[in-house]
Amino acid sequence: MPKTRQKGRQRLKLAIVSNQSTKSKRIMTQLEEKLLSAGLEIDQNDPDVVLTVGGDGTLLSAFHRYLHLIDKVRFVGIHTGHLGFYTDWRDYEVDQLVRSLQNDEGTSVSYPLLDVMLSYSDSKADKQFLALNEATLRDFSKTMVVDVYIKNDFFERFRGDGLSVSTPTGSTAYSKSLGGAVIHPRLNAIQLNEIASINNRVYRTLGSPLIISGHEWIRIDIKNGGNYHLNIDHLTIPQSKLKSIMFSVSRKKIHFASYRHTPFWRRVNDAFIGEFPKKEQDD
Ligand code: NAP
Ligand code: MN
Repeated sequence: MPKTRQKGRQRLKLAIVSNQSTKSKRIMTQLEEKLLSAGLEIDQNDPDVVLTVGGDGTLLSAFHRYLHLIDKVRFVGIHTGHLGFYTDWRDYEVDQLVRSLQNDEGTSVSYPLLDVMLSYSDSKADKQFLALNEATLRDFSKTMVVDVYIKNDFFERFRGDGLSVSTPTGSTAYSKSLGGAVIHPRLNAIQLNEIASINNRVYRTLGSPLIISGHEWIRIDIKNGGNYHLNIDHLTIPQSKLKSIMFSVSRKKIHFASYRHTPFWRRVNDAFIGEFPKKEQDD
C-alpha cells in the first residue's frame, strides 16, 4: 500500500493524461485550470496522483507511462464516454474531484497485476513485464504449439491460435471475449484463456478457462520456436527465440485513489447488462 500522505505537509502533485479526442482535451484544459486555482501542483514527471481523461484504454496507457512509479503513484480515471472499469468519475464532476484532491488523505484501493517473465533460447537476458489487463501470445502464421506447466508440473500440450492470461480487472476486457469468467479484483488470481484450441481425438486441452491463485504460476514452454506476437495490454511486442514465459500474480499492485467507491458488480452490470426496466414487465 502507498504511504498515507500527511495532510497539509506538502502539496499534492498531479499529472494529467488525456486521449486525443476533442472532448477529452477540452476537459483536460479545464481540469488543469481548476487544479492550479485550487492550489494543487501539476508535475508530469513525479506525480503523487495521475488523473486520466478518456476511457479504460487511456488509463491503460497512463499505467504503462508511470510504471516506474507504480509503488507510490495513485490513479484516478475520468471518463468522457461510458462508465469504465478503471474510470468512475464523470466529466461534469470535475469540481467535486478537485475538492477531493484538496482534502486528500492518501487513501487507496489496490488491485492485482500480472507479472510476465520472458526467457530466450539465445543468450538474451530474461525480460520482465507487468500487465494491467492481460498478456496474450499468438501465432498468426501457423499453429502455435506450447507446453503448459502449472507450478513445476506438466499440465497440457496446447495447439491452437494462442493463449491469454489476464488479471481480475482485465477479466472484463479481452478475457471476457475469450469466454473467461469475470473475476472480482479483490481476488489475488490470474486467469488463463485458450484462443481457438485444436481439440479432437489426437489433441487435447482443458478447453475451459483456468484460474490460479497468487501462490502458483503458469509456465508456457514454446515448442516450435516461431515468431510469436506477444501483447501486453495495448502494446504489441513481436518476439523471436522465445523459450518460455512465466506468468504469476505480481507482488506489485496498481493503486487507485479511493475518494468514493463504485461496487465492482455495479460496474459489470452497467457495462454489460444495463439498468433494469423501471416498470415491471408482465411477460
Ligand atoms: P481498444 O481496441 O481501443 O479497446 C478495446 C475495448 O476494451 C475498449 O472498449 C476499451 O474501453 C475496453 N477495455 C479496456 N480495458 C478494459 C477493461 N479492463 N474492462 C473492460 N473493458 C476494457 O484498445 P485499448 O483501449 O488500447 O485497450 C486495450 C485492451 O483492449 C486490451 O488490453 C484488451 O483487453 C482489449 N481488447 C479486447 C479485444 C476483444 O474483446 N476481442 C480485442 C483486443 C483488445 P475504452 O473504450 O473505455 O477505452
Ligand atoms: Mn480504447
